[in-house]
Amino acid sequence: MREVRADAPGRVNLIGEHTDYHDGYVMPSAVPQRTHALLQTRDDTRVRAWSQQLGPDPIGFEVGRERKTGGWGDYIQGITWVLAREGFEVRGFELHLESAVPLGSGLSSSAALEVATLRALRDAFDLQLSDVELARLAQRSEVEFVGAPVGIMDQMASSLAGEREALFLDTRSLEFERIPLPDTLELVVINSGVAHQHVGGDYVTRRRESEEAGRLLGVKRLRDIGVDALSRIEALPPLLARRARHVVTENQRVLEARAALVAGDLETLGRLFTASHVSLRDDYEVSVARVDLLVSLAEDHADVFGARMTGGGFGGAVVIAAAAGHGRAIAQEVSAAYARCASDAPEILLPLVN
Ligand code: ADP
Ligand code: MG
Repeated sequence: MREVRADAPGRVNLIGEHTDYHDGYVMPSAVPQRTHALLQTRDDTRVRAWSQQLGPDPIGFEVGRERKTGGWGDYIQGITWVLAREGFEVRGFELHLESAVPLGSGLSSSAALEVATLRALRDAFDLQLSDVELARLAQRSEVEFVGAPVGIMDQMASSLAGEREALFLDTRSLEFERIPLPDTLELVVINSGVAHQHVGGDYVTRRRESEEAGRLLGVKRLRDIGVDALSRIEALPPLLARRARHVVTENQRVLEARAALVAGDLETLGRLFTASHVSLRDDYEVSVARVDLLVSLAEDHADVFGARMTGGGFGGAVVIAAAAGHGRAIAQEVSAAYARCASDAPEILLPLVN
């Protein structure tokens, strides 16, 4: 029997939304909230996993006989399933999970769960896996086993990003660069309390629409079109034009945001956050009224450079670029103003308040 501990962080995406499944650019950062895994190997093929967040009963299955159930155990089954498919051998284990990453709040609890579990398995069974390969396996398990057609951003962020730095990532080559956040910048993240759902529905529709736009433009991925091609995009049917315009301009904004971070130019960074939100709201149509409200309340604040929805949309959280030292006050004031207008209870995810 071998016992190992591992953990992995949640993430907040600074900019680059709905670009990863078009091989585009993203720029997430790790958050202090993490998922912790304690794993004990077994001599047989039995797996049992407990999650402190989801009640006292374990999920269970046999390695090699994974079958989708629709519950959270699918994430663990997906991991052993994908490892076998990629030729990695693991036996059974007992897994105890404990997470400070809120589930379904836009901090990517699913990637934190996958990466923490894979890190524990890598240590316990001496798997020869780099951090990038580990992220790829985590994504593949979520797409092919759990059935959520997500891009690679969340898993790369959880596997490779640090706190107080942005992970600039090219999702085509998986080349990345770690950019320290300027000391003058503080990030605020507030969850709207409107729950999102990725496994089906609108996320899949957006993906299909934007892929159709790419097809009409003669490319496999919208990554292959730059802002110089906007006039060609305008010639598409209006709805497809809006979807493509978001992806193409968002890729450009990630490049500009990376330069702004390097230069410590927070005014520009804030303007890019705001432009990203408008594009997601009006062109990609993945925001909701409550999230728009949070963004506009944040932008009214004197110490805020810009704000935008973060994550896949249809609810979830906003990320605010704030002047350092003002994060806590902004978070409290914006949340209080939101609570007065909305029936949903806001939740401050960053800065940590305890
Ligand atoms: P997000 O990744 O944005 O938090 P998702 O819908 O992608 O939201 O993933 C949330 C799902 O992941 C949960 O409903 C649950 O099935 C699973 N999950 C995430 N973290 C845990 C955890 N600590 N324990 C058990 N299941 C978890
Ligand atoms: Mg997720």
